[in-house]
Amino acid sequence: MPLTANHSKAPTLTVIGGGLAGSEAAWQAASRRVPVTLYEMRPAVRTEAHETDLLAELVCSNSLRSDRLDRANGLLKEEMRRLGSLIMSAADETRVPAGSALAVDRAAFAAEVTRRIENCHGIRIIREEVTAVPPEGTVIVASGPLTSSPLAKALYAITGEHYLFFYDAVSPIVAAETIDMNECFAASRYHKGDADYLNCPLDEGQYDDFYEALVTAERAGPHEFEKREFFEGCLPVDVLAARGKDALRFGPMKPVGLTDPRTGEMPNAVAQLRAENVARTMYNLVGFQTSLRWGEQKRVFRMIPGLRDAEFLRFGVVHRNTYINAPALLNERYQCRAVPRMFFAGQISGVEGYVESAGSGLIAGINAVQHMRGEQPLTFPQETMLGALAHYIANADRRHFQPMNANFGLLPPMKKRRGQRKLERKLAYSSRALAALEAVVSGQWSVVSDR
Ligand SMILES: Cc1cc2nc3c(=O)[nH]c(=O)nc-3n(C[C@H](O)[C@H](O)[C@H](O)COP(=O)(O)OP(=O)(O)OC[C@H]3O[C@@H](n4cnc5c(N)ncnc54)[C@H](O)[C@@H]3O)c2cc1C
Repeated sequence: MPLTANHSKAPTLTVIGGGLAGSEAAWQAASRRVPVTLYEMRPAVRTEAHETDLLAELVCSNSLRSDRLDRANGLLKEEMRRLGSLIMSAADETRVPAGSALAVDRAAFAAEVTRRIENCHGIRIIREEVTAVPPEGTVIVASGPLTSSPLAKALYAITGEHYLFFYDAVSPIVAAETIDMNECFAASRYHKGDADYLNCPLDEGQYDDFYEALVTAERAGPHEFEKREFFEGCLPVDVLAARGKDALRFGPMKPVGLTDPRTGEMPNAVAQLRAENVARTMYNLVGFQTSLRWGEQKRVFRMIPGLRDAEFLRFGVVHRNTYINAPALLNERYQCRAVPRMFFAGQISGVEGYVESAGSGLIAGINAVQHMRGEQPLTFPQETMLGALAHYIANADRRHFQPMNANFGLLPPMKKRRGQRKLERKLAYSSRALAALEAVVSGQWSVVSDR
């Protein structure tokens, strides 16, 4: 059934950017009978990564990652399906065999999203670059990691210069329950403040082996447009290591101000882990932003004492990315706290990944409608992956904010049952999430899954 929306006098929602987030947001709003104007600058203005003029073009891999319920990204997909997601529906329709992952025929996927949006009577597409945020009306900014410069400049005025970033230099995050606490100690350098860091000490032999593995590990090649000088302040750990054997010991692995309680001495080198969330279920490897291939990150960083069995919830990346400091600006509905008529969605809102981008678009689209109608906003339960990611985006530490992907460490912890296996535990998290989502859907919403 084609979507219809009353275009007569009803206020219109403006969506800037017809990527994964913008397409999903526009769809969600239109399916609630709110007229949408969707701006997409391609093909008139191109980005460095997109190659077509289709909406929701996948700029790199054709994989939307796992489709299993014991994987965070699989759970996120299932939640989105249950909420009538356009991106999930188009992906399911154009999937290609890829084992337990959901991979799509790239061209068919983007063509399908474009077809559905173009056929949706409630959405008007304008192929124009937006260079200023509309002065009134409800707006969702979903212009992605490659937001055009005039718009980025216009956003400064709203976010403030210090809250808009252009590069990601992201360190890996590991699951707290997989860190061997016998191998590390909690302390802050020079005992300043609380013992906020977990310190993994390396003796000389361990450091030598780690260093050797790091400098010989395989890196992911940058896209042509990303080849550039790195900022000195956030050099990838592998680039820094290539400068010489002691560069890390004077940089992110410096041991000064730390005493290993087991030896009473300063270690030879230290890798520091900092809690990523209040529940301390996730720890960030401080200063370990890296462009190593993901498999290599696992192999090399697991050589750090305490991390031998670490589960990586997020891998390090270094790439071009426009994103805001979400915890400083947004609430859990991707809505600007200071300017409630404005929402951000997709990579620019501080989420990372195709599905995460679409998921944030889904929440922003629903809540933009609620805002326009003066109705109760919908904050998703933290037990759901959608809600947990949104909660993180709004509440992470703004001093160290880095984009985040879906992972089980974001969910409120469940008590571990004796003998419970990893797979069972993750499925338990997923069951709880889907039950929480069901309550929202049945209790508050008649979620439309029109086509
Ligand atoms: C090079 C690169 C590779 C990536 N590879 C992967 C990957 O393999 N897997 C993964 O999960 N994630 C990947 N990502 C991260 C992210 O998931 C994708 O970028 C994803 O497309 C983000 O969705 P989005 O909707 O936020 O942005 P996009 O999908 O980029 O959509 C934003 C849209 O806004 C338009 N736009 C920009 N400025 C304006 C303006 N001023 N006016 C009007 N329109 C505008 C753009 O043309 C674009 O169509 C990659 C990112 C980059 C940059």
